[in-house]
Amino acid sequence: MAQVVIIGGGTAGLPAAYELAELARPGERITVVADRASFRSGTPAPWVTALGSVEFDLAQNLRRRGIGFTAAGARRLYPERRQLELGDGKRLDYDFLVIAAGPRPAFEEIQGLGPRGYTHSLCHADHVAGCVRDWHRFVADPGPIVVGAVQGATCFAPAYESAFHMERELRARKLLDRAPITFVTPEPYIGHLGVDGIGDSRARLESALRALGIGWIADARVERIERGRMHVTEAGSGRTHALPFRYSVMMPPFRGIEAVAGIEGLTDARGFILIDEFLRNPKYPEIYAAGVTVASAAASATCVAALAHRTAYLIESMVSAVARNIRDAIDGNAPGAGAEWNPVHLADLGASGLAFVADPAPSLRPAHGVAAGDWVQMSRCSACDLAH
Ligand SMILES: Cc1cc2nc3c(=O)[nH]c(=O)nc-3n(C[C@H](O)[C@H](O)[C@H](O)COP(=O)(O)OP(=O)(O)OC[C@H]3O[C@@H](n4cnc5c(N)ncnc54)[C@H](O)[C@@H]3O)c2cc1C
Repeated sequence: MAQVVIIGGGTAGLPAAYELAELARPGERITVVADRASFRSGTPAPWVTALGSVEFDLAQNLRRRGIGFTAAGARRLYPERRQLELGDGKRLDYDFLVIAAGPRPAFEEIQGLGPRGYTHSLCHADHVAGCVRDWHRFVADPGPIVVGAVQGATCFAPAYESAFHMERELRARKLLDRAPITFVTPEPYIGHLGVDGIGDSRARLESALRALGIGWIADARVERIERGRMHVTEAGSGRTHALPFRYSVMMPPFRGIEAVAGIEGLTDARGFILIDEFLRNPKYPEIYAAGVTVASAAASATCVAALAHRTAYLIESMVSAVARNIRDAIDGNAPGAGAEWNPVHLADLGASGLAFVADPAPSLRPAHGVAAGDWVQMSRCSACDLAH
């Protein structure tokens, strides 16, 4: 009977387990290998005190549906043997493996970046506590803010949202004149979003930043960060900046997880999983991947690495395709399901919002759309309220 193992109990891993369990036949076994006992998602905007976080016990929820679970974490994958070594030294055999372990923030790539350096990160629920604590200290004694993303980041929407939320919160506290905000991004232009723009995203986002007095440096490479100062070079012109800050949140570069690093044919140079149109690895077709862990080429050649963001909408579509394809493969049929690769972004701009729908195929560019309005912000907030 087939054994399916899923690495990761997050946004992609959990629905993958549920969908596979729904399609499973008696005797087939599905096991989730997570690196923590609970699912935890941080608030997307910790400086908005009204928002909270979602947390629930993984083992209890998965076992209720007949899904096996361990929180020992994946230590090393041996794809030739179809075996996964866990953090506690045990080994799990599999017939099919789903890698849904998300990204690893690679703070070490830039001196002074991240919670152990001088900037904050929203990429992991564990990082959000420090972000909130220092925000409260900051508003008691404000100064300049630098917010954005560094080269190699895949996630730009949270960076923009952070800037807009901070502006809104500072405006409400009448602190804006004491806390100028600079947005720093490796995108070649504002609104590129890792996909060479979506509709008129450049004009919309530039105009929103300008209207709120938020300055920006695009095409930026962050060279190093020291206490209270970020050293940035504009990649095209070579112009340098030493930006003072009292508070900073920067999206880091991402890499794949250590357990798969350097496996020839499985990963790209940054450790992301190589897949075909059916979300299978070409060299090891019994290995599938979904979520941010999947390798993707930058949508356009940019001076500074900026990669496309994978949203929850896209992830859901990947997960459904993976579950259907594994079911087919177990039944001896050729997998035929692919994912919908058109990302949908809902960006909360504080008082209003922007919705982006992008199709990565250049020939379909005219179909791209941007819509604006309070409804976007409302839909994001309603989603947040559901967490309580
Ligand atoms: C700050 C931020 C905000 C975002 N906001 C949105 C948003 O509002 N809307 C949206 O659509 N998208 C958003 N995204 C993008 C994307 O949807 C999320 O990043 C999403 O959580 C990615 O899902 P994932 O399953 O790939 O990774 P994750 O949800 O991170 O799940 C990966 C899981 O694997 C675990 N893991 C890691 N290593 C191991 C290991 N060795 N063994 C076992 N388990 C391991 C991790 O602990 C984690 O639980 C956001 C991303 C970020 C960073």
